[in-house]
Amino acid sequence: MSEYRIDTKCIQEGYSPKNGEPRVMPIVQSTTYTYDSSQAMGDLFDLKADGFFYTRLANPTLDAVEKKIAALEGGVGAMLTSSGQAASLISMLNICHAGDHVVASSAIYGGTFNLIFKTMQEMGIESTFVSPGCSREELQAAFRPNTRCVFAETLSNPSLVVTDIEMFAEEAHAHGVPLIVDNTFPTPINCRPFEFGADIVTHSTSKYMDGHAVQLGGVIVDSGKFDWNNGKFPMLTQPDESYHGIVYTEKFGNAAYIVKARTHLMRDLGAQASPQNAFLLNLGLETLALRMERHCSNAMKVAQFLENHEKVSWVNFPGLESSPYHALAQKYMPNGTCGVVSFGVKGGREAATRFMDSLKMASIVTHVADLRTCVLHPASTTHRQMNDEQLAEAGVTPDLIRFSVGIENPEDIIEDVAQALEKA
Ligand SMILES: *Cc1c(COP(=O)(O)O)cnc(C)c1O
Repeated sequence: MSEYRIDTKCIQEGYSPKNGEPRVMPIVQSTTYTYDSSQAMGDLFDLKADGFFYTRLANPTLDAVEKKIAALEGGVGAMLTSSGQAASLISMLNICHAGDHVVASSAIYGGTFNLIFKTMQEMGIESTFVSPGCSREELQAAFRPNTRCVFAETLSNPSLVVTDIEMFAEEAHAHGVPLIVDNTFPTPINCRPFEFGADIVTHSTSKYMDGHAVQLGGVIVDSGKFDWNNGKFPMLTQPDESYHGIVYTEKFGNAAYIVKARTHLMRDLGAQASPQNAFLLNLGLETLALRMERHCSNAMKVAQFLENHEKVSWVNFPGLESSPYHALAQKYMPNGTCGVVSFGVKGGREAATRFMDSLKMASIVTHVADLRTCVLHPASTTHRQMNDEQLAEAGVTPDLIRFSVGIENPEDIIEDVAQALEKA
């Protein structure tokens, strides 16, 4: 890994062509790889040698993008997945089995909430949700002897709550388990959770990392800093009979977690990203630093405009001094947070709908965090399966509008918002 600054890493990390090779990272659209002897291939299957043998486990295009993202987050290794959902699932399943327990922040993406609250529950993995603004004592009370990880979002989608990563990491470590942080919204440009004690980072790369809304994907990054040898993680410290008794922590040292995620779970679950999507993701990553800067400055202008508008009842943007999360945002994301602003229009749910229907440039889409300004009403879409109490816990009020500020000219975005507010 180089010592370049992060915006340079976006461009230079991951792929380094040798003499005469293509300058641009190629798409290796091949499921399979050829070897001179069956012994050479057998060694790959036994994890004795490093190399590609089947794209469900690894592929050169994916490998280059994984190295770039690991470098951006400051981790020892990364694994791309077919979606952000797959990344969240595998990040927990890698260390939590039936009978285990997860502590999760309640301010998380609706899909992650369903995953933990319903699907993982059905798999026998229990969970306790804590308010992201909880006190240390409330957080401590959520742990059980069978807790195996803590899951939170740096900056939650859509409520924009900033998690106190240091406190969550300290408590996770005091209970012998890692902190997993979904860092989708700030991206590593604005926050690198490993620097504050998080152990594993996940992303939906479908958002800012891609930035153009062209590929669905996810990634898991391992900091390599968590010590798994405390008796709670036999899946990493005891022999794996599906690999002739390999012990991941012995053979792969501080990359044990991410190697097991690939060689065990990706092998068995097959939620692999495609080479074509990894190529598109890489194009997005090349301009990520530049785009995040513009998303943040545009969002700040929109948030300030909304804050001073008579038809707006409240604005939540951690960049604003009025935000209850301003101090945490300054600590964890001093250069900016993200381009998403949430706010309420006077007149509640109906006014919110009229506002959205009156927008001319900003489009109503499920997606968030790409270069086109877009808007969504979470209570009736992404979070509609939650009851009122769960919505309140997640910080989603019925009037909440999630406004994802793009990188168009800020004057055009504000003019569109202004004319739609007149009609709300
Ligand atoms: C979108 C999103 C996910 C899920 O990612 P997909 O790529 O849609 O599967 C997870 N976490 C956060 C914070 C998200 O915004």
